[in-house]
Amino acid sequence: MLFYDIQQTCPRHAAGVPPSFTRFPRPVQGIITDLDGVMFKNGKLIPHAAAFVHHCKTLGLPLVALTNHAGSSAAFVAQKLRNLGLAWKDQDVLTSIELTSMYLSARYPGARCYVLGSPDLRRAIDRISPPPDTVDRIPDLVVVGYTADHDASTLQRAARYVMNGARLIATNPDRLLPGLGALQFEVGPVIAYLEAATQQRAEVIGKPNSFALLAACNHLGTRAAHTLMIGDTLETDIQGARNAGMLSALVLTGNTDHDLARREQLQADVVVETLAQLQRLIIRSPDLSVF
Ligand SMILES: [Mg+2]
Repeated sequence: MLFYDIQQTCPRHAAGVPPSFTRFPRPVQGIITDLDGVMFKNGKLIPHAAAFVHHCKTLGLPLVALTNHAGSSAAFVAQKLRNLGLAWKDQDVLTSIELTSMYLSARYPGARCYVLGSPDLRRAIDRISPPPDTVDRIPDLVVVGYTADHDASTLQRAARYVMNGARLIATNPDRLLPGLGALQFEVGPVIAYLEAATQQRAEVIGKPNSFALLAACNHLGTRAAHTLMIGDTLETDIQGARNAGMLSALVLTGNTDHDLARREQLQADVVVETLAQLQRLIIRSPDLSVF
């Protein structure tokens, strides 16, 4: 069983952030990690990520990746992690594609879906929903995920379905794809567009929805209160951990810098600049064997 240690030079204090907690208030039994901005960035491995993953494995601490991006399947993402040098199994990745499949199977079994999104999202939804109608009937659900090219006629069709009774489901709320170069919309702007057009609220499945966090927790077999969520984004990763009653660690290697971490009301349990700092906080505790 694992417990934290707190270093003399707590990174949170070093960052000048007023602490709500100065250390993990409870022991850690399993870890959920975001990927972009935590494990990799702009296609490259983030320093210390490989050592951190190795550290978790050495301690026997279960680790699952939870990503909001619904552009590709878990198997694709796991292969990407392996290509970057991280030992990662397909089954230890959850994307919003898998989460959306789980959510729809549980909440809307047998629902007919109109899908706007990536080929991998379409394939996943096809596996759990009836075959598409040959006539243009109103589907039960409009499911929106990431795609690089939402065209106007598809969006209009989706809006028409929602205005005629279909429920609007979205894989994740993120606004923009992280990275350099041209601005690339994630699903958030598409949700805003369809909500404004239809005056209907979308059900959004990825982080910070506690459904996503608790599904990952279920995968680990850990209790939420003793599960640590590591992320670089306050409004999805850290808010999601808060919603699900989990511990949280904000890593300043992605979307959030010192200034933003200091300004925002929402606070993680710990803030670290790198995974190397977080690694030093997670140690095995020989005196804490029962929880
Ligand atoms: Mg991220």
